[in-house]
Amino acid sequence: MSRHPLADFGWDDDWAAAFAPYAAQGLVPGRVVRVDRGQCDIVTPEGPVRADTEFVTPHDPLRVICTGDWAVVDADGCDPRYVRTYLPRRTSFVRSTSSKRSEGQILAANVDHAVIAGSLAAELDLGRIERFLALAWESGAQPVVVLTKADLVPDAATTAHLVSDVETAAPGVQVLAVSAEQGHGIDVLGAVLDGTSVLLGQSGAGKSTLANALLGADVMDVHAGRDVDGKGRHTTTTRNLLVLPTGGVLIDTPGLRGVGLFDAEAGVGQVFSEIEALAQGCRFHDCAHDAEPGCAVLAALDDGTLPPRRLDSYRKLLRENQRLAARTDARLRDEMRRVWKMRGAQGRAAMEAKRGRLG
Ligand code: GDP
Ligand code: ZN
Repeated sequence: MSRHPLADFGWDDDWAAAFAPYAAQGLVPGRVVRVDRGQCDIVTPEGPVRADTEFVTPHDPLRVICTGDWAVVDADGCDPRYVRTYLPRRTSFVRSTSSKRSEGQILAANVDHAVIAGSLAAELDLGRIERFLALAWESGAQPVVVLTKADLVPDAATTAHLVSDVETAAPGVQVLAVSAEQGHGIDVLGAVLDGTSVLLGQSGAGKSTLANALLGADVMDVHAGRDVDGKGRHTTTTRNLLVLPTGGVLIDTPGLRGVGLFDAEAGVGQVFSEIEALAQGCRFHDCAHDAEPGCAVLAALDDGTLPPRRLDSYRKLLRENQRLAARTDARLRDEMRRVWKMRGAQGRAAMEAKRGRLG
């Protein structure tokens, strides 16, 4: 059997099965490269097409079609062509907003691997890596941490030490040290990244350099020329969705680059899976690991198996996440208000009891 023309873009048997009913209606599948001004660029078996997104722009912002979606498009000959629907998403990257009006924004769909870039040129910021890990897990994608600029670390033993530090902050996640500059580790990373990938990380972490190294010189030239006239031959296929020579595609959108705050409680749990596992052993199921008797988390702190930094980071991310959720979720906001009130009342009652004892 010949290779499907969309295989390079991530098409597989499961997508084909999901698409089968539409194929029977003569509709065409395609991967969304970018969405703008009521239309989107889609790569289809017949090449890049532009189609109207009117039917896939519902009020719920999380259900608006986005880069990475598998679109179901009118057959060639329809003018204008419409995206009729898109196939159910496997994963989705969402940006939470603190704005009361919007409930979040979908940034990319159907991402298999989230590459979290952290630079070895500066002191490692494990908290930052954990935050990106939470975002990645929350999306449904498998994270991989890439420590960039390994050429700036003086010796291999130090690099190995740094990798192992990050490994303790990233249970269940592969951690690689690479140097895009010297080409070290790029082949290993390329082999890991089948399917669809995104690059996350702070500005300056080395994401663009890494992308270029993964893409190879030829593709990089095409990419560099993307905005010259806005209608170059490769424009639509290279702007946001880049085919890797080792197989797989890289999604690179401005929204993903700027992603910051997130709403990812389940993701946080996965980043700190060893803490959540310890908490199973706490005497109280709602243990806050503060001063409760029989707290397994505090016991692990005491015997040195849990680094204090991990617990601090876990709490910080949970707090941050809760604050954000509180801003966007009125129900939780009311609940938190109720708890605060109760705590206040309890606090007052305790004070009064104490005063009573004293007086
Ligand atoms: P981005 O903001 O995450 O896309 O980061 P860039 O790819 O623009 O890289 C930021 C800076 O780090 C640039 O000055 C790069 O030249 C430098 N850089 C990136 N990768 C490497 C590397 O492997 N080794 C060294 N020494 N510098 C690198
Ligand atoms: Zn506890």
